Amino acid sequence: MALTVYREKDLNLQAFVNTRVAVIGYGNQGKAHALNLRDSGAKTIVGQRPGASFDNAKVDGFDPLPVGEAAGAADVVIIALPDEAAPAVFEREIAPALNPGVAVGFLHGFNIRYGFIKPPDEIDVVLVAPKGPGTLLRSSFVEGKGIPALFAIHRDATGYAKRIALAWCVGIGSARAGVIETTFEDETETDLFGEQTVLCGGVVSLMKAAFETLVDAGYEPELAYLECVHELKQVADLVYEHGLAGMRQRISNTAEYGGLTRGPKLVGESGRSAMKQILEDVRDGTFAKEWMGGGEAAKMPEDETDSEFERAGRHVRALMP
Ligand code: NDP
Ligand code: MG
Repeated sequence: MALTVYREKDLNLQAFVNTRVAVIGYGNQGKAHALNLRDSGAKTIVGQRPGASFDNAKVDGFDPLPVGEAAGAADVVIIALPDEAAPAVFEREIAPALNPGVAVGFLHGFNIRYGFIKPPDEIDVVLVAPKGPGTLLRSSFVEGKGIPALFAIHRDATGYAKRIALAWCVGIGSARAGVIETTFEDETETDLFGEQTVLCGGVVSLMKAAFETLVDAGYEPELAYLECVHELKQVADLVYEHGLAGMRQRISNTAEYGGLTRGPKLVGESGRSAMKQILEDVRDGTFAKEWMGGGEAAKMPEDETDSEFERAGRHVRALMP
């Protein structure tokens, strides 16, 4: 499959000239989108309920409006609410306020892909998903750089949807790094699968199990933590910068041999079949239904803060300059 990568030199902010952009929700992502868009010259308003995020937006020089008012005052409405909260807020406050011909923008395809939000027919529905946290989206923008983003068009009612999505990518700085077109379906499914099997699930379980194996065998927790958790960043950075081959060149031959021969023993047939099941649950909506039904396990496990793992981590971090 050939991917088209759009870059800043081929794009512009034209679709955002004389366009009022409302960012609904001033959290991790919303803050970064609002600040970057404003600094890029877009007329940016923030819709935010009262509370800490509201105060934060004020400190940053915005004059936040109630969610419905902001949505009603904009041509492009970017929804930066938590996925699980967005459907109720959309139905109650955003949908009734939308003007004809506006575009609604999402940062993750979840609510459209699974049908929890069904925007009215006559509006554009687009997605821009930066591949990184809001803090990085902001800090890289300030440094004159950007982080890559995916964009997708769910509905092009006006004929302008793609221009709007690309102008949004320019405005947040992502076009400096490169943006790639995808679909709401592929963005949602790959994002959920990746965070579950690798980023926030698989890797975390691997670190915890390895740590516990060493500690149970009598090794010092700090030593276990340094090896199985702390050093992950260095290896991940090497892969990020140089790929697998480049990482292998930079570790010892012993580590390379041990990794190549032992790694597949952990993620063998049973690991792969668990991954297929996780993907199946993502694709057939089982996971989405479970999570939106009030997924109980979503809170930080109470005993975790005081676990041996976290205590060792605090200790190790305190040793660092
Ligand atoms: P956050 O939880 O950081 O921010 C949520 C914002 O929405 C806050 O300003 C919060 O205000 C407000 N909010 C929460 N609940 C309600 C409610 N019931 N009514 C009105 N306002 C509410 O969310 P994220 O920035 O993490 O996520 C936003 C979107 O971005 C999601 O679609 C997510 O999938 C996507 N995304 C997130 C990434 C990330 O790195 N975090 C990366 C890429 C995409 P208050 O403080 O008052 O609760
Ligand atoms: Mg992701």
